Amino acid sequence: MAYEYDDQNIFAKILRGEIPNSTVLETEHCLAFRDITPLAPDHVLVIPKGPYVTYDHFALEASAAEIVDFTRTIGKVCDMLGVRPGFDGDGFRLIVNSGTNGVQEVPHMHTHIMAGRWLGHMLPSAKQD
Ligand code: AMP
Repeated sequence: MAYEYDDQNIFAKILRGEIPNSTVLETEHCLAFRDITPLAPDHVLVIPKGPYVTYDHFALEASAAEIVDFTRTIGKVCDMLGVRPGFDGDGFRLIVNSGTNGVQEVPHMHTHIMAGRWLGHMLPSAKQD
């Protein structure tokens, strides 16, 4: 088994500048931009610039520099959004959908940062489509 990266996915096109995005922050290894269909007042996606498909792919194969930059970028975006608990923010949620059961739509690893409203409990208790 191997990870197969589809370089025609929409986030690859964003990284190549082929389609526009609403950038919040760009770093050496990452891009953070607003989700086109926000599910919360603040809904930002953080993606690595490298060709990683799923979270496990990134966690197992990315370099230490990429992983540190990714984690720091999430922290910086939370700071920029003013959502840090204990720093005048009301909190946030990170979501990383991976694969079929994770209902991942775009096959380029990304973390959703969602904030700006009460987000409810983590998952519905019953199975849903
Ligand atoms: P996921 O289901 O975790 O793969 O989430 C993919 C996310 O990408 C969804 O929340 C979409 O709204 C978002 N999305 C798709 N196309 C774009 C785009 N062109 N710009 C910003 N966000 C997008």
